[in-house]
Amino acid sequence: MTDDPIDLARRSLFVAAAALGPMAAWPAAGPPLADTTSELRGLCVGDAGLRTVYDAGRWCEGPAWSTRACGLVFSDVKADRLLLLGDGGRVETLREPAHHTNGNAFDAQGRLVSCEHLGRRLVRQEADGSLRVLADRYRGGRLNSPNDLALHSDGAVWFTDPTFGIEDPTQGRPAVSEQPARHVFRLDPCTGLEAVSTSFEQPNGIAFSPDEKTLYVSDTRREANSEGRHEIRAFDVIGRRRLADERVFAVVRPGVADGLAVDERGNVWAACADGAHVHGPDGRRLGRVATPSRCANLAFGGPTGRTLFLCCGTQIVALETTVRAARALG
Ligand code: MG
Repeated sequence: MTDDPIDLARRSLFVAAAALGPMAAWPAAGPPLADTTSELRGLCVGDAGLRTVYDAGRWCEGPAWSTRACGLVFSDVKADRLLLLGDGGRVETLREPAHHTNGNAFDAQGRLVSCEHLGRRLVRQEADGSLRVLADRYRGGRLNSPNDLALHSDGAVWFTDPTFGIEDPTQGRPAVSEQPARHVFRLDPCTGLEAVSTSFEQPNGIAFSPDEKTLYVSDTRREANSEGRHEIRAFDVIGRRRLADERVFAVVRPGVADGLAVDERGNVWAACADGAHVHGPDGRRLGRVATPSRCANLAFGGPTGRTLFLCCGTQIVALETTVRAARALG
């Protein structure tokens, strides 16, 4: 159903963009920030606090700001929908069902690239609305369940492939893994798919530093195993295609870090059980933005690029900051 190009064209972002028009004001502010350090407050606008901008989801994930549509695309993984939030809270359904899409990102041409749990693939929506499969197999075996992605300026798509979507029937379909590891992959537009790391227990959020010389990836094994990892790892990116000097960037407590976002100053914002944990480029913890419930993912966007959108279970909340994303695409 979702692969029908006519249906997709009708639902395409371009149609949605025309329907939504310019972004109006978001709903009124909610409670003020709590549990933040002075350093972190410097990254936030006054006492603006968190604003609830959407509260009708089951499990919100994969936020990605669309400049073209002037709205926030996000996945409701458990409701199996892909949605566009814009114009003062107006919501458009882009795909339903959505193959339990999780992470999303817009490339430099404004095309939406998505990780599908159920489809066990990485897909891109083309200008005519059709879906193009970018990757669904590695060395003969199906991918596990692509979770989240980071787009490099050279056109490569870096993404994580944990097993959540083949373990949890509420966000995919149980199946036996056909891969020997939970990889971090790099998809080169010319040379294809390569595993760049096999050392993760459950790789999840992924993001580049502003100069793209460092890659951050969260390991979320502790989610299902109390002895598992609960940290953000950092790597040097060598020659745009290889990773070296793997190290622990930050250990996360409580819980694990899910999605990651890096701002233009190189600070790492991690979606965690009790909010967004923020670390400087050197790994030093700057503080926490407390959220009303577990934060699964986050992304900068909004008309100024300085609004941080945080997916928190059934809700999406917004925080005004003084920084933009490390790189703004789409
Ligand atoms: Mg994730």
